[in-house]
Amino acid sequence: MIDIGRVWSDVKNELSISINSIAYMMWIDTLTPVCVKKGVLYLLASSITARNAVNKNYKDTVKKALVTLYSSFSDVEFIVESDIPSRGSALDDSSGDSDDIHDNQIVINSSADSEKRICPFIEKYSFNNLIEGDNNKLAKHAAIAVAQKPGNAGEFITFNPLFIYGGVGLGKTHLLHAIGNYLWQNFPEKKVLYVPTEKMTTEYIESISSDKTSTNVRAFREKYRNIDVLMLDDVQFLEGKVGLQEVFFHIFNDLFQAGKQIVLSSDRPPKEISTLEERLRSRFEGGLLADILAPGLEMRIAILKHKMLLQKIAANEDVVHYLAEQFDSNVRELEGALTKVVLYAQLLNRASPDIIIAKEALKTNAPKKVGVDSSDIISTVCSYFRVSESDLIGKKKTKLLSEARMIAIYLITDMLSIPLVTIGQLFGGRDHTTIIHARDKIQNKLKDNKETEKQINDIKNMLDR
Ligand code: ADP
Ligand code: MG
Repeated sequence: MIDIGRVWSDVKNELSISINSIAYMMWIDTLTPVCVKKGVLYLLASSITARNAVNKNYKDTVKKALVTLYSSFSDVEFIVESDIPSRGSALDDSSGDSDDIHDNQIVINSSADSEKRICPFIEKYSFNNLIEGDNNKLAKHAAIAVAQKPGNAGEFITFNPLFIYGGVGLGKTHLLHAIGNYLWQNFPEKKVLYVPTEKMTTEYIESISSDKTSTNVRAFREKYRNIDVLMLDDVQFLEGKVGLQEVFFHIFNDLFQAGKQIVLSSDRPPKEISTLEERLRSRFEGGLLADILAPGLEMRIAILKHKMLLQKIAANEDVVHYLAEQFDSNVRELEGALTKVVLYAQLLNRASPDIIIAKEALKTNAPKKVGVDSSDIISTVCSYFRVSESDLIGKKKTKLLSEARMIAIYLITDMLSIPLVTIGQLFGGRDHTTIIHARDKIQNKLKDNKETEKQINDIKNMLDR
């Protein structure tokens, strides 16, 4: 058996001499060997940019080093994670060569041994990684049921088709991939096809725009016949496509009658897909319709914490709450915001983001604040002095806490017009005389203490952003 880790490390050694060190670090050292197929070493690049760069500039060099060291190899190919699902849906298996990597990414093929199989589904889109809540419970459990017993032929209750619908970024594609991943692991013999409807449309258009239209349309339909599980993502794109709907109706019937599982996703229920042919609509409604709603606040918090755990980022409660409150209708946006905040913290060399960093990072996303309020001042002071809000508001009297507390009180009295009694309430029910005392103390300090002056200015600057 070939140890590709060993092979790649030998090749890298060779390359580290022939390629300049910065380029080596950026483009070569970041590649990961994935598998070998027919003498081709597949290397995973960390991004599309990296793949394109290495492909353009170093393919020949890498290939030469590999082939020279290991004569059983003939070539290298660079891929990215996202290549996998998109190629998977390329529907280009006309060659019938099941050992080809492109086909394996679309159809699960039992004959390939486990070392050669490349999973076509996005690995992190698993059932485990899909946080469950009231908003998606039905869809998730139906998906699990389908994955465990695809087609479920002969059973009294069948979820066929399973029609999952819900707004953008709520986990529909994630669920389809989770079904795929589960089947990949537990039913390697099943042929599973995941196709975005747009891809199917493109292929259909190609089939009808060629010379031998009828043959091609037949071939298009044939392709789906020996599939065990068909997952068609975003079927709302069937809207208005009369010809495709017609062909798909037949594909649907062929599979359904053969007891094969069909899973569909859409951003709306079948009855709201206009111009969907009636007979197709009634097929879509004939199985289980499962909706996914927008997640509630607790669920959004749970999702964020889960994502942070996966990325090994310490979860700061303030940041989690801030993000969860700002992004309430789309999990993809919520994730995007988290990524932005984490990157921003990295840029500032912080191990994990705090609330100031989060607000700064999302300045362009967040709805503009009309002005500063007392909670902004309190949280900014807390970040500045690195103390918790509960301590700032509480009774502890360490030097740092007393100082931070007085500064927060001073800033609130200085910047906002809130009654002293209310400020007292904000600070754990303190008497208004305590508030006056704190305010005056800082005011006096400001006259001759440069350190305090700097602290106040820093915090005001932070609040200004
Ligand atoms: P859709 O297909 O519905 O537009 P996706 O499946 O692409 O949405 O989901 C968008 C992102 O949100 C994905 O990264 C997905 O992992 C994430 N996501 C959605 N719902 C959840 C959830 N309940 N738990 C964890 N991640 C989720
Ligand atoms: Mg989707």
